[in-house]
Amino acid sequence: MRILLIEDESGIAQFISQGLKEIGYIVSVAKDGKEGKDYLEMSEYDIIILDIMLPRIDGLQLLQEIRQQQILTPVLLLTARDRIEDRVKGLDYGADDYLVKPFAFSELLARLRALQRRPPLQVNTLLQLADLTMDLPTREVRRGSQLIELSPLEFKLLEYLLRNANQVLSRTQIGEHVWNLDFYSESNVVDVYVGYLRRKIDRDFDTALLHTIRGVGYCLKCP
Ligand code: CA
Repeated sequence: MRILLIEDESGIAQFISQGLKEIGYIVSVAKDGKEGKDYLEMSEYDIIILDIMLPRIDGLQLLQEIRQQQILTPVLLLTARDRIEDRVKGLDYGADDYLVKPFAFSELLARLRALQRRPPLQVNTLLQLADLTMDLPTREVRRGSQLIELSPLEFKLLEYLLRNANQVLSRTQIGEHVWNLDFYSESNVVDVYVGYLRRKIDRDFDTALLHTIRGVGYCLKCP
């Protein structure tokens, strides 16, 4: 069982790796997100233990990149922050489980055993609503057969809307997920980008998919 541990706090990294090695796991330790990414490009692991707060590339961003590259290795997130939104985001981005620091070593072992038993994650590589499709590996967006060019932010916004199709999303939810920042609801950045996106995915087509829900936010759905 090969484990990649991506953790910048050396005390915690040592505590985990030593404990796991003693019971027979093979452990590689990466000290930041960039190093973790390099390790993943060089070899394969059975489980990744990923801290969220990391220098260079943070854990959530790395997780997103890993899944976009179709690396389906189970990921256990470590978070020091007692922030629900980090965990929700982590699970949305394809993490399999998480542990909040500080944790008992026995709990870590129990989570690892559970991950080993779990069937491999199926990442959905094609997001679809009606005739709108988004191919994640190739980053191609189409309505019917027509290819639609999106900027990276428009792509990210549409990906979030597609993953949550048929749900009404508030501007704050969209702002936090797509812009990844503490979000100020008085900013109109979400409305501006929804406008850009609507022009590209809806304007030249018969059926509008991106709907404004007055006073609440937006919803991507078939009418
Ligand atoms: Ca950290």
